Amino acid sequence: MQRLLKQQARPANGNQAKHRYAGLLACQECGNTFIPMIRCWNGKRRVEYVCRGYHRNGKAYCSSHRIHEEVLDAAVQEYAETLRKQCAEELKKLVQMQKMWALRKPILDAHILSLQKRIQELEREIDEIVIEKLKGSVSNPRPR
Ligand SMILES: [Zn+2]
Repeated sequence: MQRLLKQQARPANGNQAKHRYAGLLACQECGNTFIPMIRCWNGKRRVEYVCRGYHRNGKAYCSSHRIHEEVLDAAVQEYAETLRKQCAEELKKLVQMQKMWALRKPILDAHILSLQKRIQELEREIDEIVIEKLKGSVSNPRPR
């Protein structure tokens, strides 16, 4: 695994697929993708992503937009951290809501039960009224 990571970190000659942000970035000015370039600076090798429009056609086409891979790494890490925090925050809220509803459940259950009893009472009353009406119509038949 360690060796694999090292291989990935070392950009192969012209093989863009080895660069983790290749094809993922687009220039805001000209819409071209950013291409990875290897820069040697102060004895260090760095990967930099450059606007392909600028790289191919020069200043007349687009500005020299570029970004270092480490900057992108940091941004991705920061974003992941933000998402992680947001998720944790949401989870906390959910747990609180769960607790709140769990506390209210017995009260609501009791309320449901009392309403169900009331429904049964009313149904019984309706039945009685209907029976009374039927009795009435039998003893006093409607004239034809
Ligand atoms: Zn551009």
